Amino acid sequence: MPSDTSALLETLGSLEQLKKMTERIPGMIFQFHRSASGRMRFPYLAGSVALIRGVERRLLADDAHHAFDRVDPEDFPRLMAAIERSAKNQTPLATQFRLRQPDGEVHWIAARAQPEPLGNGTLWHGLMLDISEQIAYQAHLRELSDTDELTGLANRRKLMCRLDEEISLSNRHSTPLSLMLIDLDHFKRINDTWGHLQGDQVLTELAGLCTDALREEDLVARLGGEEFAIMLPLTPLSRCQPLAERLRQSIAAHDFGITQGRVTVSIGVAEHRVGESRDVLIERADRGLYAAKHRGRNLVISVE
Ligand code: GH3
Ligand code: MG
Ligand code: MG
Repeated sequence: MPSDTSALLETLGSLEQLKKMTERIPGMIFQFHRSASGRMRFPYLAGSVALIRGVERRLLADDAHHAFDRVDPEDFPRLMAAIERSAKNQTPLATQFRLRQPDGEVHWIAARAQPEPLGNGTLWHGLMLDISEQIAYQAHLRELSDTDELTGLANRRKLMCRLDEEISLSNRHSTPLSLMLIDLDHFKRINDTWGHLQGDQVLTELAGLCTDALREEDLVARLGGEEFAIMLPLTPLSRCQPLAERLRQSIAAHDFGITQGRVTVSIGVAEHRVGESRDVLIERADRGLYAAKHRGRNLVISVE
């Protein structure tokens, strides 16, 4: 009948429109099925091919592993656990993972899907979006919040985080860990004599000298003002002390471009004792620093 024909044409038209639209969305919509025996496949998959370049969709309808093989091995267990949890609790799947492209490029993908129990397993209806840009932006923000603006060194917040990590490693494996606290001597005078801008320049150059003197695994941080700290993992006090001494000498000998101006530092050094807290370690290094100032500055004092 004519009315049936026009209804059919209308349906076909909107199907065509839907197909066109899904091919252009900047992501994918999918149905994902996992059988009771654990077989996984994508019965329906539509959207931007850029997301899974180089994988034939036809194959995914039969076996999801062609796509899962591309998931970063570090993220794969988390993805499988999220799928398991969503099936078990019948709660929405919400996860993100890294997907390797054929050219080696890695993209971050977010997946959101609604599970539906189906006789012999679970069927999810969902979407995937490329969130690489957001992830990069988050990393950028994190970096900003961890960095001292003037010197580009790690800031106090970052140092405290890393100290907590390294202290817990040291407690677990009984490995040595040392800390230097560094404070510029009479820095107020430098500012007063040469100006704040020149003072800032001294701070920046000093940051460079500290970084040059150390290994990659050591962390140099600016705690604020004219105070710096260096965390040295896998380093006992017996090795940290001569390193601090060498650093002190190299700073005292460095030409900071201030005529007749001498820039020196006092350094307090301490080693973490297994079981002790971060505050106790800092407090001991600080005692060394205080003693160095008290005994005339331009000195390294370690506290057992
Ligand atoms: P001491 O040897 O006892 O450490 O003396 P000091 O003068 O270094 O110590 P004090 O704490 O009295 O003064 C620190 C000075 O550091 C005060 C301030 O003018 C200066 N200062 C702190 N932050 C900055 C900064 O970001 N830039 C510059 N140029 N100066 C700073
Ligand atoms: Mg100070
Ligand atoms: Mg000072």
